[in-house]
Amino acid sequence: MSSADWHAAYEHFLDEPGAWQRHVGWARNDRVLPISTRWDYVFAVDANGVVWANLDEDLGGELDRFYPEPPAQVWVTRHRQEALLDGAKTYPWLREWAGERPFDAVDCPKCGGKGLPEPFICVCGNAGWLAPEEAVALGEDIPLPDHVRDYLLNHGRMHLDDSEREKLRLLNLGATRSKNFELLLRSGNAATVLESLLEQGEDTFFEAICRRFLREHEHELITNRCQRCNGLCRTPRARQCRWCGHNWHDVAR
Ligand SMILES: [Zn+2]
Ligand SMILES: [Zn+2]
Repeated sequence: MSSADWHAAYEHFLDEPGAWQRHVGWARNDRVLPISTRWDYVFAVDANGVVWANLDEDLGGELDRFYPEPPAQVWVTRHRQEALLDGAKTYPWLREWAGERPFDAVDCPKCGGKGLPEPFICVCGNAGWLAPEEAVALGEDIPLPDHVRDYLLNHGRMHLDDSEREKLRLLNLGATRSKNFELLLRSGNAATVLESLLEQGEDTFFEAICRRFLREHEHELITNRCQRCNGLCRTPRARQCRWCGHNWHDVAR
């Protein structure tokens, strides 16, 4: 990833924005290079390879849910791929900035893994693959890999509903086998809940929580994937990739 390419393109854009004159203000203020427009939003990339989304025309499109306060950083992998791969038609070096297909990706079922022919853009952003959490968010019936499930359970807790929270509390209490737990079981209802939980299996319960997070809260989840290998980092704030070792500690966000 060479920032020389970016700087040259940025200077050139400010000098000759052509039909994108209306994006010059944003480009100048936030030091971003506009690379791709949709009918509602415009995407730009900064010198560190971070992709940003800004509202172009307020038409009430589906991206409003993801970027309600634009300009906003793009975490959604398929949006990032869409922006960078579309931008690569103008700036070929952006293809490298889009990173590799991650090891946990699934072939995009909508385009058969090939992307759509010009001028169409597939739901995968024409990458031909989807991150597993995004495939599930889009309604695909694939199992979530363990590392994705752990990430969602660890970092999506604020999206638990009351019933899930209560079941988790019982499971945790049950694991301690404490006096409190024995008392709780004798009180009736808790025992029934726990029994049906264990019958269903903890794994099934955890998987169901994650799938609900993805269906209902995808736009609020920060899935922090590495810019180089597109692997899922350990935490939303991680600045080093657990899979390929790439790090971006010196990048201000
Ligand atoms: Zn596709
Ligand atoms: Zn990586």
